Amino acid sequence: MTQDPGINGDRLWQSLMEMAQIGALPGGGCGRLTLTDDDQIARDLFTRWCEEAGCTVKFDRLGNMFARRPGRNPDLPPIAIGSHLDTQPHGGRFDGVYGVMAGLEVIRSLNDHGLETDAPIEVVNWTNEEGARFAPAMLCSGVYAGLFDLDFALSRTDANGISLDAELSRIGYAGTEACGAHELGAFLEVHIEQGPVLERHSEVIGVVIGGQGQRWYDVTVTGRDAHSGSTPMEGRSDALVAAAGLIKAVQDIALAHGPDGVGTVGEMHISPNSRNTIPGEVRFTIDFRHPDDAVLSVMDAAIHSAANRVTGAKVDLDMIWHNPPVHFDTRCVDAIENVTRASGHAYRRMVSGAGHDACLVARRVPTAMVFVPCKDGLSHNEAEWAEPAHLTAGCNVLFQAALMLSQDSAMTSGQEVRGGKNKKETHPTVQEI
Ligand SMILES: [Zn+2]
Repeated sequence: MTQDPGINGDRLWQSLMEMAQIGALPGGGCGRLTLTDDDQIARDLFTRWCEEAGCTVKFDRLGNMFARRPGRNPDLPPIAIGSHLDTQPHGGRFDGVYGVMAGLEVIRSLNDHGLETDAPIEVVNWTNEEGARFAPAMLCSGVYAGLFDLDFALSRTDANGISLDAELSRIGYAGTEACGAHELGAFLEVHIEQGPVLERHSEVIGVVIGGQGQRWYDVTVTGRDAHSGSTPMEGRSDALVAAAGLIKAVQDIALAHGPDGVGTVGEMHISPNSRNTIPGEVRFTIDFRHPDDAVLSVMDAAIHSAANRVTGAKVDLDMIWHNPPVHFDTRCVDAIENVTRASGHAYRRMVSGAGHDACLVARRVPTAMVFVPCKDGLSHNEAEWAEPAHLTAGCNVLFQAALMLSQDSAMTSGQEVRGGKNKKETHPTVQEI
């Protein structure tokens, strides 16, 4: 389905493939960890491409990059499009990179068509989205949104004890502008779905209305170490058997709140982890997610009640993170849905299962996302694949939505009204975090 004026899908694909050469892996994927030499090369290339397209490129204290194409009215905050250029160690060519290259393609296409916008258009590259080298993920969009402190971000270290601050300086991307000082009028992010829903339904576009909430727990089950041969079954205090019951409870609770509810135990440490000793202590994690915070509260109550029912061992259940669901800005979502409908592509409204920079930026800036299908829902894998036609379709939606929002005086100059409304929707969730 073509849209006129539209973006150049071939050029978008070329940019993606050229960027994927930086940190290319033998299996066809990309391993470009944040703030490495490869990341520097990728940032430099992105800067060159943006400057060739007539943009001014700036970066803040955390290396978050903003490439601006001026608008007719320099006083208006920019309509920003972006994602991240860093990847997982064994990542693909599309996760994140597509969102940044799509932003660049929007600007190149605006130039091709000689289109002027009221508000400036910007392309953003957020630093350290993946969290693979410096935990946590979405660190620098998180500082931008006010969810993390600058010093917390700068002091994060990698497996070799090297700090994020040191690496930013080493590759020349520690800017002088304070992180968060750069105002955005709106933020749009296009991303591969990283799940199977669109492909399963033969849909081309996901209009993302928000991100699901998460509750993370640390669990410690304490029993008593004892000899596996000479201790009768009766009267044992086996921490692993108690933990197994709780893992089953996590599964049952998630299934009871399906299909939106999901629950995962992904990490476990058994002590002393010896085949002829009854485990005296087990520590494990729980990750519950659901789009509705009220349902997450029910899931929370259910796991506490399961923990209270455990006999023969002591259970400490500690919720270490409560990230409430994010509801994207109605005007941004409407803009995306309207242009998608006009394009004729099959689409659905959906909630993001994964975390994205947009989910954090949305706490501060009117935001929405677009998803396109990826093969078998596979991501964080070298085999990650998206059809060029789908990437083109997603970028066209972005192009039309950005054009609409950048010409929309209510979006860019009605700051008081819109800002107030947005604040009411999202501020309480910031407090809860
Ligand atoms: Zn991503």
